[in-house]
Amino acid sequence: MAKKPTAIVIGAGIGGIATAGRLAKQGFAVTVLEKNSTPGGRCGQIVRDGHRFDIGPTLFLMPEVWEETFAALGEKMSDHMRLVRIDPTYKVHFDDGLQLQLTSNLGEMQAQLEKVEKTAFTGFLGYIAEGSKHYKISLEKFVGRNFYNIFEYFSLANLPLLFQLKALMKHYSNTGRFFKDERLKAAFTFQNMYLGLSPYDAPATYSLLQYTELAEGVWYPMGGMYKGIETLTAIAEKLGVRFVYNTPVKAIHCSNNKVESVETETGQVYSADLFVGNADLPYIYKELLPKNAEADKLDKKLYTCSTIMFYWAVDKQYPQIAHHNVFLAGDYKASFDQIFNEHKLPAQPSFYIHAPARTDAAAAPQGQDTLYVLVPVGHMDAANKQDWNEMVNRARETVFARLEKEMAITDLREHIKFEMINTPLTWKAQFNLEKGAAFGLSHNFWQVGFLRPQNRHARFKNLYFAGASTHPGTGLPIVLLSARLTTERILKEAKSWQVEGTQLILQPVNS
Ligand SMILES: Cc1cc2nc3c(=O)[nH]c(=O)nc-3n(C[C@H](O)[C@H](O)[C@H](O)COP(=O)(O)OP(=O)(O)OC[C@H]3O[C@@H](n4cnc5c(N)ncnc54)[C@H](O)[C@@H]3O)c2cc1C
Repeated sequence: MAKKPTAIVIGAGIGGIATAGRLAKQGFAVTVLEKNSTPGGRCGQIVRDGHRFDIGPTLFLMPEVWEETFAALGEKMSDHMRLVRIDPTYKVHFDDGLQLQLTSNLGEMQAQLEKVEKTAFTGFLGYIAEGSKHYKISLEKFVGRNFYNIFEYFSLANLPLLFQLKALMKHYSNTGRFFKDERLKAAFTFQNMYLGLSPYDAPATYSLLQYTELAEGVWYPMGGMYKGIETLTAIAEKLGVRFVYNTPVKAIHCSNNKVESVETETGQVYSADLFVGNADLPYIYKELLPKNAEADKLDKKLYTCSTIMFYWAVDKQYPQIAHHNVFLAGDYKASFDQIFNEHKLPAQPSFYIHAPARTDAAAAPQGQDTLYVLVPVGHMDAANKQDWNEMVNRARETVFARLEKEMAITDLREHIKFEMINTPLTWKAQFNLEKGAAFGLSHNFWQVGFLRPQNRHARFKNLYFAGASTHPGTGLPIVLLSARLTTERILKEAKSWQVEGTQLILQPVNS
C-alpha cells in the first residue's frame, strides 16, 4: 500500500495550523515545527492573574471565510465558537472632542454624520456601496484565487476590474468624493492600518474594509480571539497533525531544485516530501534558505508599520472605555508620514484601545479590567537610530493624557497592577517578523496579487508558503484564504513534488 505523502510546516501561526489541517484532511502525514511553546503566532494569548489578553488581533472579521475553513476540515464553526457581534463597532475620538460611534444602525449613523456635514449620510451610503463592490470583486477575482503567471493576473478580463477597483487611486483622496470634512475622511480610512498601510498610499480598493466591518460585522469570539487558534489546532490534531513546540527551525537544506529537509536549532533534521513555510516569508528567504538573491530583493520591498503595545491589568473598570476605541491624531497626515516615511512614533500618535471585558466578563477578574493599547509606529530601520524607550514612554504618556482630556480618566496610572509591553523588537524576537513589521509585507499595488511573493518557491518546487507575507496578504481571514490557496496549489501541482511510488516517512534522522 502506498504510504501517505509527508509534509512539514514551519510555524504554527493561523496560516500554518489551517494549512496543516487541510493537508491532513487530504491524506498527508503532517508535522508542524513551531519555535514557541504555544500555537497562534501573532494571534497568541497571555493569561496572568485572571487577566486574559489577546496579544495581536482583536477584530474577528469575515466570518464566512472562517466557516469555509471549518467546513473544509469537516467541522462546523458554530459547534466550537460562540461569536458575538460588536455594534457600534468602534467609538472614534478626535482630538477636538468630536466622537463618532460607527454602527450598522443607519438611523444612528445618519444623525451623527449630518451633525458633522449636511450631505455626509448620502456620502456614507455611496462609500459603503463602493466598498461592497470592491469587496465582492476583490474576493472573487483577486484575493480568493491563485495566479500561476503574470498573464493570468494582467489578463484582458482582469484589466478593467483593476480600474473598477480603483487600484491606482489613493484611498484618502478617493474618500474626498464622499465626504468633505477631514474628520470623516479620517474615520473612514484609519482601518487601512490593519493592512499596515497609510491611507495616503493605500489603493482606494480598501474601502472594502469599512464595508466588511459595517455590513458583515465586527465579531468577538467568547473566550477571546485565541479561541480560534485553540479550536483549529485541536481539529488539526484530530485529523492527525503532529505539533512540535519549542522547536525553531534554523536552516532549510536543498539539493537539485528540491528541499530535502529542515534542521532545527538543536540539530534535529526532519525530511519530508513537501514543505510549507508559515514563518514570515522574507525571514525564510533571508535566514533559513541557502544564500539567495531573492532575499536582498525582499529586503528592499515595502513593509507594513509596527506597533507599540501596552497590556494593562487594571484593578478597576472604566465604563467610558467601550469594547473597541480609536483615538485619532490631530495631524492625521503627518502622523502617517512619520510612521511610514520616517519610521518613528509620530509627534501626535493615534492609538486604539481594546477592552474585551465589556463583552466577555471572563477576560478580567470581577470588577477589574484588561486593557490592550495599540499605538502604530514605524518598523525597525537599520539606517536610522530609533530610541524605543523614548517612544514607549511618549506613547504611554499620550494615552494617559488623551484619556484624561477626553474621558475624564485621571487615575488610570495608579490602578495598573502590571504592564507588559511589545515593541517592534519584541515582534521580531518572538515571531521572526522581518523588520519587526507587525503585519508583514505591505499591500500597495506593486505587492499584491501576482506581484506579491508567490506561495511557491520559484526554484524549489516542493517549498510552499502560507501566511501574511505571501498571497493574498495579512489579517486572520486573509491568511485563512492563504491556507486554502496554498493547499489548492499543492494538490494541483502534485506532479512537481510527489515522490514516486513510496513516500518518505517523517522522522528526525540524526536525533
Ligand atoms: C498588533 C496586531 C493586531 C492585529 N489585529 C488584527 C485584527 O484585529 N484582525 C485580524 O484579522 N488580523 C489582525 N492582525 C493580523 C494577524 O494577526 C496576522 O495577519 C496573522 O495572525 C498572521 O498569521 P500567520 O500565520 O501568517 O503568521 P504568524 O502569526 O506570525 O505565525 C508564524 C509562526 O511561525 C513561527 N516561526 C517563526 N520562525 C520560526 C522558525 N524558525 N521555526 C519554527 N517556527 C517559526 C512563529 O513563532 C509563529 O508562530 C493583527 C496583527 C498584529 C500584530
